[in-house]
Amino acid sequence: MENKKYTITCPNCGASVSVERPAIINVQNNPEYKIQILSGELFRETCTQCGQGLQVVSRLTYHDIEKRLMIYFRPITSQEELKTFDYEAIRSAIEDNFSAPGYAMRVVTTVNELMEKIKIAEYGLNDGVIEIAKFVYFDIFSKQFEGVGVINIYYERRDDKDALIFFCNDGNTRSIFIDPKIYASIEKRFSEVVKAIYTSRVCMVGRDWALRMIKAYSKRDNQTITPDEKPEIKLLDSHPEA
Ligand SMILES: [Zn+2]
Repeated sequence: MENKKYTITCPNCGASVSVERPAIINVQNNPEYKIQILSGELFRETCTQCGQGLQVVSRLTYHDIEKRLMIYFRPITSQEELKTFDYEAIRSAIEDNFSAPGYAMRVVTTVNELMEKIKIAEYGLNDGVIEIAKFVYFDIFSKQFEGVGVINIYYERRDDKDALIFFCNDGNTRSIFIDPKIYASIEKRFSEVVKAIYTSRVCMVGRDWALRMIKAYSKRDNQTITPDEKPEIKLLDSHPEA
């Protein structure tokens, strides 16, 4: 266990608040951290002076030996960080230091992505398949909800089923269950690439990755993946991130 100290300036009263957070999490040794990540607790702090809620978003490495999952959380919280973010440098630094066959090694830049990767692994799913599935269901969504913009889509487990949660620009959150047949057909069609990301190569598996794969594969074949039946899109009254 390796803790790091940070000083945060309270936006409300200007006090300097010292916080300590783990830089490396080994889930087998400290399962409580996984719970704290998923609840968001790890990223929250309270100002000791005025009681204001503070956000603590610090870099960390998440290691789950059982799930063979390694997540490098390298947060981008400002334009400055976005400008200086050097994925290639991060990737080569990781690959120089750690090599484990059959591992999923991911670089993520937001708390939501970190949570999502942990949940996807929890239910034994492939994050590459999920990212491609988002595009499949986005198409269906756009046809049913013309004019409603989608800000983000995240994987979530709901009612013992795999679901995608759509955060929309009309302020609503909507969910669609992932049809296991669709999941299987994506896994089959993209088998080479979705297997390749589980062979200890460091990668960022997100929207851009999925888009690149979809483009590459649609050049190769003309197959489309769409459900036989129109999936039900449910309006969620609760905001999972709130
Ligand atoms: Zn304060």
